[in-house]
Amino acid sequence: MYQLTLKRKIDGVGIGLHKGIPIKISLEPLDSNSGVVFYRSDVDTYIQAKPQNVKDTTMATVIGDNRGNIVSTIEHLLSAIYAFGIDNILIILDSYEVPIMDGSSASFCMMLKDANTQKLKQKKKVYMLKDKVEVKQDNKVVSLSPSLTPKYNFSIRFPHPSIGYQKHSFEFTKQNYIEEISRARTFGFLKDIHMLRKKDLALGGSLENAIVMDQKRILNIEGLRYENEFVRHKILDAIGDLRLLGHPYIAEYDSYAGSHDLNHLLTKELLNSPDKFELVELDGIKEMIFYDQR
Ligand SMILES: [Zn+2]
Repeated sequence: MYQLTLKRKIDGVGIGLHKGIPIKISLEPLDSNSGVVFYRSDVDTYIQAKPQNVKDTTMATVIGDNRGNIVSTIEHLLSAIYAFGIDNILIILDSYEVPIMDGSSASFCMMLKDANTQKLKQKKKVYMLKDKVEVKQDNKVVSLSPSLTPKYNFSIRFPHPSIGYQKHSFEFTKQNYIEEISRARTFGFLKDIHMLRKKDLALGGSLENAIVMDQKRILNIEGLRYENEFVRHKILDAIGDLRLLGHPYIAEYDSYAGSHDLNHLLTKELLNSPDKFELVELDGIKEMIFYDQR
């Protein structure tokens, strides 16, 4: 299986969650072994998507260069890039955040589908887990375990009548991702949005790009896209956060109440445990497991 990039350049535009103004985004092909690279045209800097460049994980995953320039909220775009099996891509932005679009990765999936993919000369490599890698914080946990197929199991518990306890298990293929995960939106609580606005953040946040709840109920009149949309979005986030590993993984991801922070710690834990994985070229059999519906 060869590495993939885009067949052609594609342009888009969307509102930034924090700044609240339109941001231009272009996706362009890149050559083998380049990885996912962000370019900020407003400050003329390139930032590679890798765990060493992560600067913040409190509300979103934020990467940056060593001059203090950042790109925020990369996880939904990276999630779509992972699902499409794209190894090398240049993402050009004219601001410090990826547009929030509708709060899911559906728009990015559409852009990637439009741009289409092409094979490159170098082979694709994949992490095969030999041993479990786990990170815990209080009662929260994320882990990757050896598995014959890529799977995700996520559960969450929020003391809110619209969420409560939710669990979702997901067998990864591109098609399953598009159908089961890509449309799941991010979510937030009205009280937090008020607090963020006071700090001049979340200025672009609205019912158009998030599920918003007051103390009792969901405020979006259209309701939910999936019954357990909240936990599905957590899987969308996890796939995006783990894209920073640089290669696909054939493993089972498990999480209870995982966060951007724990996902980031998990990527570092894996990369610091070379005895727990092998990085191998995808052969025909593994390719079938991984990309069976392509
Ligand atoms: Zn998210």
